Amino acid sequence: MKYFDHSSTTPINPKVISLMTSKQSELYGNPSSIHLHGQKAKGILESARGKIAKSINAKKTQIIFTSGGTESNNQVLWSLIGNKKNHIITSKIEHPAITKALQALEPLGLEYSLVNVSSDGLVDIDEILNLVNDRTGLISIMLANNEIGAVQPIKEISKLASEKGILLHTDAVQCMGKMKIDIVDLGVDFLSLSAHKFYGPKGAGILYTKNPTHLKPMIIGGNQEYGLRGGTENLISIAGMALAAELINEELESHIIHLTTLEKYFKSELQNFNGKINFNGDQSNKLPGLISVSFPGHKSSKLVIQLDQAEMYVSNGSACGSGNIKPSPVLKALGFDDLRNFSTIRFSFGVSNSLKDVEALINQIKKII
Ligand code: PLP
Repeated sequence: MKYFDHSSTTPINPKVISLMTSKQSELYGNPSSIHLHGQKAKGILESARGKIAKSINAKKTQIIFTSGGTESNNQVLWSLIGNKKNHIITSKIEHPAITKALQALEPLGLEYSLVNVSSDGLVDIDEILNLVNDRTGLISIMLANNEIGAVQPIKEISKLASEKGILLHTDAVQCMGKMKIDIVDLGVDFLSLSAHKFYGPKGAGILYTKNPTHLKPMIIGGNQEYGLRGGTENLISIAGMALAAELINEELESHIIHLTTLEKYFKSELQNFNGKINFNGDQSNKLPGLISVSFPGHKSSKLVIQLDQAEMYVSNGSACGSGNIKPSPVLKALGFDDLRNFSTIRFSFGVSNSLKDVEALINQIKKII
């Protein structure tokens, strides 16, 4: 497959499809019903919760199922409304599910400050410290960025946050299957994940919360998810998500090696072809297989279409920004001018890509350029 856009979304693992298909006809009970079908459904739901908890070293009671990364991120911010400590520190390169949500929640009483990043896309910890005030209740910094893959120093930020008595959230949506995620090791209070980024179904996500009393329900209704997320659970997708997490974590080491091999080959071939090509973001501390490349003198929107015509699928900026002619705020925060911003493409490799696929991609890029 010549699909090189796994950071936008991943194809569902066939084993996950087969589980979901088989459960679809047999498992129709509502997990909240007390009869046999309800209890069967509840069993599946709780087994999925256990698998997810295990995959990130959490406890079952710390896992809430949501509709995806956007909802998980939104809910953490939402939970600060009405608190005395209602000031949030976040970065300029967060996903819009954080930055736009903060803009929307400002009239409801939240205050926020945006921390800068270096030209390599790493947040400045000293600046975070300078932005802390006595009303700071939350720091929200992504574990890795979706456009450049830079991995942020969350463990260090966690030390700072706990010294100051501030809660810490990390958006780890891009990370499952590309690095080990251990909530104890990271020292975070909240963590967001989304199934469709790790070969699971769309519309299912996870919110880890160290202490559930710090969270408030954003979708209000029934008493599902410990009263923290109303609405009958998306059971079949949740079961699929748990299997997807289990499968990708079983293969984590080999998956990382696979992605790293493809990335090394891709970068060295491109570099040999044209020394002016830039690889964006910190190259030593990044997610494997997610590569942001600027092609000076070329428009990324045109390159994406030319590659599409050759049946090779990549993205300019993030998926959410595609089709949007505005410069990427992430690349802007790295200090890129519009020319460089508009010449940048994100390649993101996955399980089904082979070295031969990457070779074909390189040949096509050479041909176009
Ligand atoms: N956070 C990051 C870093 C992402 O890359 C994405 C999706 O692109 C999201 C959040 C949103 O996740 P979802 O599509 O599950 O709502």
